[in-house]
Amino acid sequence: AKEAGRGCYRVYDAALHEVHEQKRDLEAALHEAIEGDQFVLHFQPKVCSHTRAIVGREALIRWNRPGRGMVYPDTFIPVAEQSLLINDIGRWTIRAACEAAVKWDATETVAVNLSARQFLDPDLVADVRDVLRETGLNPARLELEITETALILNKQLAATILMELKALGIKIALDDFGTGYSSMSYVQSFPFDRLKIDRSFVAAMNGDRKSRAIVEAIISLAHSLDIPVVAEGVETEEQASLLRSLLCEELQGFLIARPEPFTSPDQAEPKSDKA
Ligand code: C2E
Ligand code: CA
Ligand code: CA
Ligand code: CA
Repeated sequence: AKEAGRGCYRVYDAALHEVHEQKRDLEAALHEAIEGDQFVLHFQPKVCSHTRAIVGREALIRWNRPGRGMVYPDTFIPVAEQSLLINDIGRWTIRAACEAAVKWDATETVAVNLSARQFLDPDLVADVRDVLRETGLNPARLELEITETALILNKQLAATILMELKALGIKIALDDFGTGYSSMSYVQSFPFDRLKIDRSFVAAMNGDRKSRAIVEAIISLAHSLDIPVVAEGVETEEQASLLRSLLCEELQGFLIARPEPFTSPDQAEPKSDKA
């Protein structure tokens, strides 16, 4: 029995060792990615639920990993978050998003996702201020999307950071709303400019009365606090029309458009030359 037990441990150790090794390789590759400019941003439009006019775009990071193709954030952001890498990636993302936004219509906002660790980075506020100054982007056009994980650790500190960010003139959205433990209390205690309903509720909304009730409750809560709502993950016209009838202001999802690289008009091929 003892022998078998030890054998088990050995297998376990080997598996664990493998996991560590993979993580180390990924971290090393991420360092190279930062140095080698391997990240790209794709942008997904957000539209008015009534007119379908574009009101803004969310920046979503992708990693163009040599030999492996396009890598999606769910596979590398969690690893980057376990080290200071996330701060470098985050700084790059904010800058690249603002540089893109100055090239597009001045009525459209740009939204950038912040991880919890990046939100608590003592340099964040100064970094954002620098990027705004250097790119010349109107601060009111920049929106940072945070999740409640960023607020959980230290409410006092989070409140201070939010106030400093808002003092720059930028907007703050609460992402993945409804998936956390204390969404309600956060909406009450922090000054959000927008709530994003998590796509899990949107996906279940049409078939399931309970999910629909949750979506309705989120929208009326937000509206009672004068906060506009955006629904993410909208994939069908049924979802879009239900959300519109519930007075959800903005829609985002594959129904409207998939995330894609942004090409500025001056980079696009001049149409007159094609004739
Ligand atoms: P998120 O902020 O909740 O972003 C929405 C995700 O849903 C995106 O996945 C988007 O491509 C996807 N999506 C949009 N519309 C639809 C739809 O109609 N149906 C479905 N099924 N999915 C839809 P993506 O780009 O893979 O990003 C995943 C997550 O990675 C994001 O979730 C966000 O938490 C994180 N992330 C993305 N970019 C960044 C970044 O620059 N920095 C940080 N820290 N996190 C990022
Ligand atoms: Ca988001
Ligand atoms: Ca989300
Ligand atoms: Ca998310």
